[in-house]
Amino acid sequence: LGTVLANAHGMKRFLTALLLIAPALASAQPVLEFRNDLAFSSSEIDALAAREYAARLGALARSGQLDRDPAMESRLNRILLRLRRAAAYERPSSERIVWEMHVCSGCDESASAMAGGRLLVSGDFVHAQAFSDDELAYLLAHEMAHVLAEHTREFSTIARFFLGNGLARGYDDIQEELAEDLPVNLRMGPDSVQQELEADYIGFVLGARAGFAPDAMLSLLDKLKTGDRSLFGTHPTDAERAQHARAMLEMGRRLAGR
Ligand SMILES: [Zn+2]
Repeated sequence: LGTVLANAHGMKRFLTALLLIAPALASAQPVLEFRNDLAFSSSEIDALAAREYAARLGALARSGQLDRDPAMESRLNRILLRLRRAAAYERPSSERIVWEMHVCSGCDESASAMAGGRLLVSGDFVHAQAFSDDELAYLLAHEMAHVLAEHTREFSTIARFFLGNGLARGYDDIQEELAEDLPVNLRMGPDSVQQELEADYIGFVLGARAGFAPDAMLSLLDKLKTGDRSLFGTHPTDAERAQHARAMLEMGRRLAGR
């Protein structure tokens, strides 16, 4: 028994040592892994997102709310360029993504991403929060993370098990029902929470990899605090997000070389 315990203890010491070394190695190779077992094809996900994005942009353009802030656009595009390089490093297949960015004013969005790299950011929101470039980078990176991890496709893949006859249904059909069926969305709350925390993690790696100050993730989350109003368990709490971010901070500093 004594030997077994000693070995177990030795193994534990070895694992601890490995965990301490791993962050140092992390900067030299991709640290993210992505799943490749999702249902549906990325092209059908892309087609629906393209239609919805075009419809939203069209509505904003008609009401004079689209791309009225060239300074904000170029600021965001400079940040996006750096994050794209980090994304291509972490997920080489993402070089195929045609990232598209628009800025709206007087709109409901804060920042959002649709499948296939379609981003929409409210200039008013950025001005009102007085985000630094570093904070803005982590905000954008979170949205890009949803795209990179194909969260829309993943959510629909999981939704098949929550919807009647789900396994036999097509992607557009599932999306249509998800848009209207609140109870299903509530039952899938834990999956949404998981995706949000994953987007925080992936986005944090991208931001740090691109050299943005990792501490800005914490100040960003502080500015984004919702007070957990009306989230119905579909989003992580402010405290959960901050706790996860603090746990990632050391890795981020190593990735960012700070
Ligand atoms: Zn999100």
